[in-house]
Amino acid sequence: MSKKTSLYANRAKAYPRFLNHGMFRRLKWLMVVLTLAVYWIGPWLRWDRGVGAPDQAILIDLPGRRAYFFFIEIWPQEVYYLTGILIISALLLFFISAMLGRVWCGFACWQTVFTDVFVWIERLFQGERNQRMALDQGPLTVNKILRKAATIIGWAVVAGGFGLGFILYFQDAPTLVRDLVNGDAGLVQYLFMGLMSFFCFLLAGFARENVCIYMCPYARFQAAMFDEHSMIVAYEGWRGEPRAPVKGKPDFTGRGHCVDCKMCIQACPTGIDIRDGSQLACIGCALCIDACNQVMDRFGLPHGLISYDSIYNQQARSVGDTSSKTKVLRPRVYVYMLALVLACTVMVYTFTTRKTFDVSTLHERAPVYVELSGNRLRNGYTLKVLNMMRKQGRFLLTVEGLPNATLSVIGIDGEGKTEMELPVSPDSVGTFHLFITAPKESVPSKAVPLLVKVTDEDNGQVMTHQNLFAGPEQ
Ligand code: SF4
Ligand code: SF4
Repeated sequence: MSKKTSLYANRAKAYPRFLNHGMFRRLKWLMVVLTLAVYWIGPWLRWDRGVGAPDQAILIDLPGRRAYFFFIEIWPQEVYYLTGILIISALLLFFISAMLGRVWCGFACWQTVFTDVFVWIERLFQGERNQRMALDQGPLTVNKILRKAATIIGWAVVAGGFGLGFILYFQDAPTLVRDLVNGDAGLVQYLFMGLMSFFCFLLAGFARENVCIYMCPYARFQAAMFDEHSMIVAYEGWRGEPRAPVKGKPDFTGRGHCVDCKMCIQACPTGIDIRDGSQLACIGCALCIDACNQVMDRFGLPHGLISYDSIYNQQARSVGDTSSKTKVLRPRVYVYMLALVLACTVMVYTFTTRKTFDVSTLHERAPVYVELSGNRLRNGYTLKVLNMMRKQGRFLLTVEGLPNATLSVIGIDGEGKTEMELPVSPDSVGTFHLFITAPKESVPSKAVPLLVKVTDEDNGQVMTHQNLFAGPEQ
């Protein structure tokens, strides 16, 4: 009987070598500092919105059903702005991917940023790559327990900071921090802070590159956005092959520049070999470029055996053509740029012309109409005026489509007029019981269409709501 061979192989844990040099390593540290500073400073920025309004510049106020971003205030019914922001973000990602590959993943994605910090903590307490590997494979000693415990505590502190930063975007930051410290915060706050901290701890501490390789959907469809002119991290096989270790005095005649030192693999946070070609697990962090450049320096060879390059350029150089150049502007880039400009224009237009109030009417059903003396009919409505401004609203109510109609609103003087002024408190919904009266001859059928028109007396903006005026069967 033939022996069964398992096709399953456990994934080997990556032990990335920590680089202290290189342009891309420095760029990555800069991004770590920038993104974390934005994340943690964001909730502490203040923005004066007047009395009674929260003064936190960036706030998602769930109980108040409002989102604030500096001077922008989004109501729940304006959630389409969020859709717009997501569409613009996606298009921007497509555009950047078409130009520079997975530069977002490699430098700015939260998973990358926190993994970088976690690996730095790991190295601080457990040493460089080889020491970490030896520690993991070695027996359980006091030294190992202490080093592992220190690493876990370091990770927990950073993960806790992430969880805290997250919930601060949902409540006034200084008040929430005080409540958390005093033990006065609600269970929900503690729960969410714990949950977000736990996920950060798990994903950056243990899951790491597996998030990028197996969990992130972007990695799955990124290839659709690249073409042969996209600048991606690539191994210049035409120059590196045939690869071979250097023995004795370096002599590169008749062979490639790759010395098979595997430093690029050791520096890679996902543990892959870029020399095998472009692959899904490559997050475009460019650390292999820094690692390889250092090796090239050691042998007096030019930088760029691994570099940001296009497949088009590589293929051209492999046949000795150094004249051809990667095309920056190409149809795919034009399409993404056009879509971006369109989406931004629509967003800016809808935002600058956004309504400052809204109107709705609901016809009362019991009774649908009332016959009055003088051959007149009366219909009742619930009228709601949503004042989205932080000042007292003065709105003028009129109706169109019903000849000789008159209005009356419970609690407001001026019955029998053709227009009425409605006061609505700042940042609130005014609810009015409206009665419309019209001569019977104005209602030739069982129901006639009616347009309720409300004008903001301060800025002239007009909102209308279509309804019906009911009468008897003619
Ligand atoms: S670091 Fe450079 S020289 Fe070393 S194995 Fe990788 S590609 Fe070859
Ligand atoms: S292959 Fe290079 S660019 Fe890709 S993930 Fe590894 S180190 Fe980063």
